Amino acid sequence: MKNLLALNWKMNKTPSEAVQWAKELRAALPQTSAELAIMAPAIALQGLSLELKDSPVKLGAQDISAHESGAYTGEISAAMLKDVGAMYAVVGHSERREYHGESSQIVAAKAAAAIAGGLVPIICVGEGLDVREKGEQVAYTLDQLRDSLSQVPVLGADQIVIAYEPVWAIGTGKTATAADAGEMADAIRGALGGLYREYADGVRILYGGSVKPANIAEICAQTNVNGALVGGASLDVASVVGLAAAL
Ligand code: 13P
Repeated sequence: MKNLLALNWKMNKTPSEAVQWAKELRAALPQTSAELAIMAPAIALQGLSLELKDSPVKLGAQDISAHESGAYTGEISAAMLKDVGAMYAVVGHSERREYHGESSQIVAAKAAAAIAGGLVPIICVGEGLDVREKGEQVAYTLDQLRDSLSQVPVLGADQIVIAYEPVWAIGTGKTATAADAGEMADAIRGALGGLYREYADGVRILYGGSVKPANIAEICAQTNVNGALVGGASLDVASVVGLAAAL
């Protein structure tokens, strides 16, 4: 299975900065066996799509509406994202769960909307520090996963991606050990087996949380880790080149 290196820019880069960045990346991109995708602010997608056409770099959004169209002021639909060249949409990132009150039920509706609109949702799950300190991270994360997938109609392994992002490791410089990431990825693979028996082995499971060029290879060497969702280290071309080269 091809590793996915998904770059989550979060709320960084104006559309013109994004295009300039993509030009620099194209010039510097090394040979990599991984698939590279930029999760850009929605407003930057059209420019990126023009700049990156004929390149192997894919695009995605950081969020998506659960609705198809209509009176939902401020929301962006799957059809709109697809029209500007997105292939992926992150759903249920911990920052959306925390700052925008998104429950796993909302996340599931967003994942279903993405699939219905022909996009691949990258569904994020992961525990906070309090849960990890109690040693309850596996049960917590698997509950969140099952709730975030409830009623999500998956008809093939390439229709969803799961990202395990322990909240305590996001932007903190604290990375889960490769063994911790591997243990959770094994548990997620097992849970996917209960949900989508025939597809479970082919679904990509990413790790996210303070991933850098220096630690990505060890993390992605774990049996069930099939790539990374990278925040801070995704903003700088040199660091993305380092991440891609390490895979
Ligand atoms: P950092 O890589 O900055 O820790 O962010 C991880 C993340 O939230 C990616 O979605």
